[in-house]
Amino acid sequence: MNIVILGAGYAGLRTALNLDHQLREHGKDDAVTLIDQNSYHQLIQKIHVTATSGVHGSEAIYNLGQILSSRQINFVQGRVRTIAPLDREVLLEDGRSLPYDRLVIALGSETAYYNVPGAREHSLPLRTYTEATTLRDHLVAQFSAAAALSDPKQQRIMLTTAIVGGGCTGCELAGELAAWVSSLSKETGAPRSEVRIALLDRNKLLLKQFGPWATREAERVLDQHGVSVYLSTAIEAVEPHMLRVSGGRVLRAGTIVWVAGIRAPSIIADAGLPVNSAGRATVDHYLRVSGQDAIFALGDCAAIPAGADGSVLPSTASYAMRQGEYLAETIFAEIVGRMTRSYEPMKLGELVSLGPDNGVGNPLGMPIIGQPVLILKKGIEQYYRSSITAP
Ligand SMILES: Cc1cc2nc3c(=O)[nH]c(=O)nc-3n(C[C@H](O)[C@H](O)[C@H](O)COP(=O)(O)OP(=O)(O)OC[C@H]3O[C@@H](n4cnc5c(N)ncnc54)[C@H](O)[C@@H]3O)c2cc1C
Repeated sequence: MNIVILGAGYAGLRTALNLDHQLREHGKDDAVTLIDQNSYHQLIQKIHVTATSGVHGSEAIYNLGQILSSRQINFVQGRVRTIAPLDREVLLEDGRSLPYDRLVIALGSETAYYNVPGAREHSLPLRTYTEATTLRDHLVAQFSAAAALSDPKQQRIMLTTAIVGGGCTGCELAGELAAWVSSLSKETGAPRSEVRIALLDRNKLLLKQFGPWATREAERVLDQHGVSVYLSTAIEAVEPHMLRVSGGRVLRAGTIVWVAGIRAPSIIADAGLPVNSAGRATVDHYLRVSGQDAIFALGDCAAIPAGADGSVLPSTASYAMRQGEYLAETIFAEIVGRMTRSYEPMKLGELVSLGPDNGVGNPLGMPIIGQPVLILKKGIEQYYRSSITAP
């Protein structure tokens, strides 16, 4: 069988590694091809640190060639342009076409702008390693330029960072940025007293999936570190260095970061596959795309039922990874003609850092705050790093 996996992120890489392991262990020669636009695997959960005080190179990205060197996985670097389910093939932007018997879609997500005028053009996203380094370079440039100005009002605008979106990414970035700005001011000569960080969200709560206790804790910690939180504040338009917000107010900021939401890549809907309102492929309890025998979807780009109420699983690396483990097992079972079990998500909870010394989380449903969050996060990260580099 010829299995093609699109995307070498948390879900796709895990599917490929585990499937390869099982095939080799059982002496099978089925072909596994992994396609990604990048030559590296990104540790997305570290990119808010890459965007600020700096986690670079091998700490935030892994060379896929090295990870896969001892495997029988065929890695293809290329950008997927089209999926053609009727022809059972995938077309890459450079014109190559790859046929498949089974296709795994693990293309992750893109930033969602919700048609807010100017949002795409005048803000910086934070979803990939390159976006993180672009944001960091921009912040350094803003601070350096502010140092050369003499008007405090102009300096304050230049040194204001507005983060749109009070979910995990927004809160993690705000916390990390707040911890970094003092040393950045020193390094660049920018006046620390004019630095402002604003975190805005249209909802009444930060981290709304956790509930009010987490909002209170996140607000307390971020406020202590000088982040101004504006809730129930909808962004109506984004202009160069300016946000127009509900109530006719404006906020001027040298840096505007848009982390207000994500959606699945349009490739999935363009292929005629069934998707939900966020463009995520709808799948059954075996992660098979509805109505498709040969196509699976998982991770951020799949709408995986979370329960009887019609909700879908959250977009997290821990879910994506476990779905990859499950799917490798399912495809292998199909290859050897074994029965497959359905996918049962394990609700492990989430952990969110609020700067280098604080955080909130609900591992296994238990609310925790502070250092324990960071200790757990570190442990999970180390486990993940060793799981992808183990031969
Ligand atoms: C700042 C930040 C912090 C986060 N922190 C955490 C955390 O602490 N814990 C946690 O559980 N989750 C965290 N998440 C969420 C987590 O990163 C995602 O849920 C996870 O990456 C989803 O995995 P995935 O495999 O579906 O997609 P991804 O990991 O995004 O992988 C998708 C892959 O597809 C590739 N790709 C996309 N389009 C194409 C194309 N057209 N052609 C070829 N290749 C393509 C990409 O290059 C990428 O390698 C965080 C997210 C962000 C943005």
